[in-house]
This record gives sequence, C-alpha cells and structure tokens, in this order.
Amino acid sequence: METPIVFTKVCKKYDKAVAYAVDDFSLTINKGEFFCLVGPSGCGKSTVLKMIAGLTAPTSGQLVKPARVGMVFQSGAVLPWLTVEENVILPLKISGLSTEKAMKLSVEYTNMVGLTGFRHQYPRELSGGQRQRIGIARALVVETEVLLLDEPFSALDTLTTQEMHRDLLQIWRATGKTIVMVSHLLEEAIMLAGRIGIMGNGRLKSIVPAANADVGKIRRIMVE
Ligand code: ADP
Repeated sequence: METPIVFTKVCKKYDKAVAYAVDDFSLTINKGEFFCLVGPSGCGKSTVLKMIAGLTAPTSGQLVKPARVGMVFQSGAVLPWLTVEENVILPLKISGLSTEKAMKLSVEYTNMVGLTGFRHQYPRELSGGQRQRIGIARALVVETEVLLLDEPFSALDTLTTQEMHRDLLQIWRATGKTIVMVSHLLEEAIMLAGRIGIMGNGRLKSIVPAANADVGKIRRIMVE
C-alpha cells in the first residue's frame, strides 16, 4: 500500500451538531511518514483520527484508509484488573489468535516499549509513563501498518514525555510504520513529525515540514 491514507474533500458533521467538525479536508499521508496534526481544542483533530480508524464515517467526500490500525488513546485506556501482558494481548485474544502466538507477540512488543520485567504486574503498580507504554504495546501488537496516536503524552510530566518522545521515534524507525499523531503542542509536533498539519475550525489551514520549522509563522497560522 503506497499511500495508506487519502482524504479528498472530506466533511464530517456529527448527528445533531450544528457545525461541521471537519470541513473540506484534503490530505495525503504517505507510507512510512510521521505526520502530526496540531490545532486548538475542538478544531477537529480527533475526528480526523477517528475517521482513519473507522470509528466514525465521513458525512461527505472520499477517504482511502487502511482496513485495520493500531490506536493509542490519551489515557492509555488500560484495564486495571488485567496485568500488563493481559492488557497487551487483549486485541489478539479478541481476534481469536492462539495463546501461544499472542504470548510471543506480547514478549516482543513489551520489550520494544521498555516494559521487560513488568509483564506480570498490574497497571496500578506502574507509573503514568509505563501505563501509557502498555497502550503503545497494545497498539503495536496488532501489527498494522498504520499507528494512530491521540494526544498520547498529554497527561505525563515533562521528563517522562521527553523519554516517551525518544522511544516513540525509535519505534517508528525500527518498524517503518506510518504514524499519525494528534497534539495541541506545536513543540511536540516539531520534535516528532516529518510534516505538520495545522488545523482550525475543522479545516486544514496549512501543511509545513517540521525540519527548520518557523515557529513564529506556524503560531500566526494557528491563531489566524
Ligand atoms: P479536537 O480533537 O481538535 O479537540 P474533536 O475532533 O474532538 O476536536 O471535535 C471537533 C468538534 O466536534 C467539536 O466541536 C466537538 O464538540 C465535536 N464533537 C466531537 N465528537 C463529537 C460527538 N461524538 N458528537 C457530537 N459532536 C462531537
């Protein structure tokens, strides 16, 4: 799949909503790229991600998207009554994969996110950053080409966030996945992404390369 995600004039209006959450949105995300969507709260970023994940459908326009994705949520969406390993293999169990294969994948991906040695512990015994690592391992274990992240580090402290940034970049390089991430922090987008999409009022206002990004100019576009 060369271009896993293509939006062409996509609009999304939720039932009973007055305004469009996403409006005339056109964007092609290339295979293997790290793309970050930024913009103020309520501008439609998560809705774009949910449409890629197939969690909600466009009202109009065309969307080419992968059949399956891995997704990391803000809270980590970790189930407290399951161990790290049980949380990680949950999607595999749901899809009916054998326990033996699921365990093998669990070892591989808990190692990749740095949770070696924590597999049999419960989320309450771990730090916030480690809990978010469970969420990342669970999104990786399904071995999809596309990984979606919805403000995954917003609940973490600065130092932990920096560690997670470094590790996420390492995972991206090691796996070659296409990553689409949503953030309200421009600095985070510049640090991680190759290209940044700036959203406002449901629209894609501009796409800028993160390398040598002019922060002042991007901020002006964001508030325009
Ligand atoms: P962001 O991720 O940028 O904060 P969202 O995509 O979550 O923005 O929301 C865009 C707009 O759509 C907001 O006005 C929000 O209130 C609205 N919205 C989001 N989800 C729903 C929903 N399930 N039903 C109705 N309106 C929604």
